[in-house]
Amino acid sequence: MSFETLGLNPSILKALLDAGYTAPTPVQEQAVPAAIAGKDLLVSSQTGSGKTAAFMLPSLHRLAEVEPAAPARTPNQEKQAASARGERPRFKAAQPKMLVLTPTRELALQVTTNTDKYSVNLRRIKAVSILGGMPYPKQMQLLSRNPEILVATPGRLIDHMESGKIDFSQLQILVLDEADRMLDMGFIDDIEKIVAATPENRQTMLFSATLDGVVGNMARRITKNPQVIQI
Ligand code: AMP
Repeated sequence: MSFETLGLNPSILKALLDAGYTAPTPVQEQAVPAAIAGKDLLVSSQTGSGKTAAFMLPSLHRLAEVEPAAPARTPNQEKQAASARGERPRFKAAQPKMLVLTPTRELALQVTTNTDKYSVNLRRIKAVSILGGMPYPKQMQLLSRNPEILVATPGRLIDHMESGKIDFSQLQILVLDEADRMLDMGFIDDIEKIVAATPENRQTMLFSATLDGVVGNMARRITKNPQVIQI
């Protein structure tokens, strides 16, 4: 099978060619067409199986199809408009279209790096990592650019959510990567809070080494009629 037959858009196909990917891995063969069709996914697969591309390629394809939003004002234009209205400038909450939750900083950075590689020809789409341990001013600067995609560890994301820096009302795609590890690390309450802040009609994809027990319960609660893929 080839990436062309999976139905991905030409800009993404070109990026894959440039990255030296010649054919999809088994998890990509199954996940990409289902996710392009908008289905929720429950995927049991290991690190190294190509799972990042399995959720990111169809997501980029779908985000690229959406009509471009009205051009956002730059932070400077926002300040000028506010002062013209006689107001003090306020921070405008970021409104991401896609959120990827990961258990660790390392995995989040890896997902962001891969996303940059796959989206290199999609100029409108930017991905940003929100991580514990990163200085707040740097994160505020990243969020002020209103990126389409956030890749985050749950704890730090909750801080920004609760202080009004991120608004999930426009979220279309939610991914839980290595969900079993996130639960092992005690992130269940944070995950529940984040999921509850996202729209009901989002697309949800959950990746985990196992789909049994606690993670299976959560998976079934947060997805709708999911396609189950076991590699
Ligand atoms: P992951 O399982 O997402 O951590 O991916 C493992 C590694 O395989 C990463 O370095 C990816 O860049 C690479 N990779 C993913 N999909 C493909 C593919 N279809 N062809 C070649 N390399 C790939």
